[in-house]
Amino acid sequence: MNQAVPQNSTVVAKFGGTSVADFEAMNRSADVVLANPQVRLVVLSASAGVTNLLVALAEGCEAEKRNYQLDEIRRIQYAILDRLAAPAVIRDEIDRLLENIAMLSEAASLATSTALTDELVSHGELMSTLLFVEILRARNVQAEWFDVRKVMRTDDHFGRAVPDSAALSELAQAQLQPRLQEALVVTQGFIGSEPKGRTTTLGRGGSDYTAALLGEALGVGRVDIWTDVPGIYTTDPRVVPAAKRIDKIGFEEAAEMATFGAKVLHPATLLPAVRSDIPVFVGSSMDPAAGGTLVCNTTENPPLFRALALRRKQTLLTLHSLNMLHARGFLAEVFNILARHNISVDLITTSEVSIALTMDTTGATSVGGSLLTTSLLTELSSLCRVEVEENLALVAIIGNQLSRACGVGKEVFGVLDPFNIRLICYGASSYNLCFLVPGEEAEQVVRPLHHNLFE
Ligand code: ASP
Ligand code: MG
Repeated sequence: MNQAVPQNSTVVAKFGGTSVADFEAMNRSADVVLANPQVRLVVLSASAGVTNLLVALAEGCEAEKRNYQLDEIRRIQYAILDRLAAPAVIRDEIDRLLENIAMLSEAASLATSTALTDELVSHGELMSTLLFVEILRARNVQAEWFDVRKVMRTDDHFGRAVPDSAALSELAQAQLQPRLQEALVVTQGFIGSEPKGRTTTLGRGGSDYTAALLGEALGVGRVDIWTDVPGIYTTDPRVVPAAKRIDKIGFEEAAEMATFGAKVLHPATLLPAVRSDIPVFVGSSMDPAAGGTLVCNTTENPPLFRALALRRKQTLLTLHSLNMLHARGFLAEVFNILARHNISVDLITTSEVSIALTMDTTGATSVGGSLLTTSLLTELSSLCRVEVEENLALVAIIGNQLSRACGVGKEVFGVLDPFNIRLICYGASSYNLCFLVPGEEAEQVVRPLHHNLFE
């Protein structure tokens, strides 16, 4: 891989959907950008709501509903456009993109496909970035729009494409790096292009990942993720109001939190950051003064218990087969089938004649969204008896040296006594202990657990 020269003072700033939701939000985000001259590259999500509307359009619907959704998208973007100092400059371009959306969604109503979905959905980021450039220019900032698809090369797994970081590094060095000296560059999160040049997406919430990948490719000193909460908390404050902000957290712990459902960061975001040791700051664009969380390579007294994450809507597959008794290669066969269906296994426990597992459902922009297809079930059923349980919740306790410390049992399991624990995973990672409970009991489990571990 073409190693990027570290530009240790440069910062990539990423703003999520709520931070570019409307004219006011975009201006607050512009304030955040301009407050730090080290920010040279800005990565944006689509304006809040737009991606959901585009995904709905991509699923195909009848004309009336389609027109309603198209109007909604137009309304959201025009509410920003109309308030720009010089709206005429980009009105044509926004109109052209809106026309594209109308045309593509009509095609989707006839026959939808994952490639078409990605093409459609990418318009959200294309529009938000065009608008944001004008917000910056209105403040006399030398700002420039950059089509990230020129550098973000991916495979052709539409809806969940995998970036090619070697190609990205080379292309970003050649095409993006020189621009950063000339202007404040604004580009799209979430989208990329596959070898034939068709548009792909990195999975829902993928803009964080884009920012980290670009940060890595350019060798920047920090990636700032601006969202609508001032940092990462010990658990979701909406579930437990006593949750506390974590000021500084190690990469591994934060990665575990993201993977296990803490919504603040996209789970893949930290991969490039860890790989290249780039600190990631998470803060709120609504209240930048409130500070945030710094995710970095820290070893300063890591606590035994760090946080609690909750992920809902988990599906548990239990596979039973008497052939598994003393068999060899059964697990390999099961995993083969899952891999062919592009399923990443999340939790797993095994016994002599059965396997219980959950599927990793993070991300995918795919139409319908369910990973549990009939063809997968049919194929698995030819091998073993399959049981499916839905609506479970995954509770993950994130910490340090969990599988090596004593006292974990007393602190954790005492609280869990009144509940039905459907599955437990513990011991593989020293950073987490996680278990499944019935979906409707999730909050009742998390509250006393948080109280016991953190309050
Ligand atoms: N706009 C995309 C989404 O809503 C990507 C992102 O926001 O990160 O999933
Ligand atoms: Mg987002």
